[in-house]
Amino acid sequence: MKKVWETFSPQETEALGEKMGQDAKPAQVFCLDGDLGVGKTVFTKGFARGLGIMEHITSPTFTIINEYMGRMPLYHFDVYRISCEEELDDTGYEEYFYGEGVSLVEWGVLFPDLMPKDAIHINIEKDFSKGEDYRRITVSQGEDV
Ligand code: ADP
Ligand code: MG
Repeated sequence: MKKVWETFSPQETEALGEKMGQDAKPAQVFCLDGDLGVGKTVFTKGFARGLGIMEHITSPTFTIINEYMGRMPLYHFDVYRISCEEELDDTGYEEYFYGEGVSLVEWGVLFPDLMPKDAIHINIEKDFSKGEDYRRITVSQGEDV
């Protein structure tokens, strides 16, 4: 499965995240990739809203994992500052991935071997030729990643 979306504002990216949050199921893992400042946290805010989470979402850059409760738990990871697989192991990430909530991992691309084979990959890219607020958002899973 591979789908490409285009957004032209943070609001549109948030709305796409919300839609995907509404459709999310327990034990799904979403790997959210793209350069710094591309919109991963913006997407996550919408995603959390789609899960019925009312809390303010902050980037887990320093805490590594933030946990929220909506119609099911959301485990929001940012593994940018993790330096090796052992360090990620120490977070107990597997219990989250295979638990009853949904995991969303910013910078999952840094640990490809630790991401589940059936993870849903969301890659956000800029293209300045199409404007400063343009984002191409590619959603893929399985063979098509
Ligand atoms: P990341 O988490 O990937 O480092 P953030 O989500 O924190 O990035 O920041 C993205 C920034 O890009 C925000 O300031 C947001 O307003 C801006 N932005 C501009 N256009 C878009 C868009 N189409 N989608 C998402 N964010 C956008
Ligand atoms: Mg972020």
